[in-house]
Amino acid sequence: MITSLFQVIPLPTEIADAARRAVNAGAPDHELITVDSPESSPCRQCLRWAQPGERVILFPYAAIPSGHPYSESGPIFVHANDCQRYSTTNEYPADFRNGRVFRAYDSSYNIIDAKIVNGSEPEVVIESLFQNRDTAFVDVRSVTRGCFTFRVQRASRG
Ligand SMILES: [Zn+2]
Repeated sequence: MITSLFQVIPLPTEIADAARRAVNAGAPDHELITVDSPESSPCRQCLRWAQPGERVILFPYAAIPSGHPYSESGPIFVHANDCQRYSTTNEYPADFRNGRVFRAYDSSYNIIDAKIVNGSEPEVVIESLFQNRDTAFVDVRSVTRGCFTFRVQRASRG
């Protein structure tokens, strides 16, 4: 059996649930949207495209926490209804094989490298970024809009 060298980290369920509570409470920075076109709204919890007609919440998420030069907060979607957090974390999510940029960060949250797929497979790009021992994690983002999609860490060796 081939084990991948990386582990996909979907958005924590606590954060998705907090967004669901916030939109119900009328938070001005949380918006409830009905998806109207395919492949427009990636859910960060189940790591699938929301389908037309499904409702999603749009809200800001600090993928890189404040207090660092590369601190960054930006808009993400989660399904408005409960969805299953992505669980096959040793596999790259099938819905996002295209249109992503891969940013390598060190343990101080500095960007140290970035690549696009550019004809290669995403697994190959991720593993090439982890060949740098200073890479602590890789953030996968939309190549066009820049929005955070999910994080990838080195697989823990058991
Ligand atoms: Zn979802």
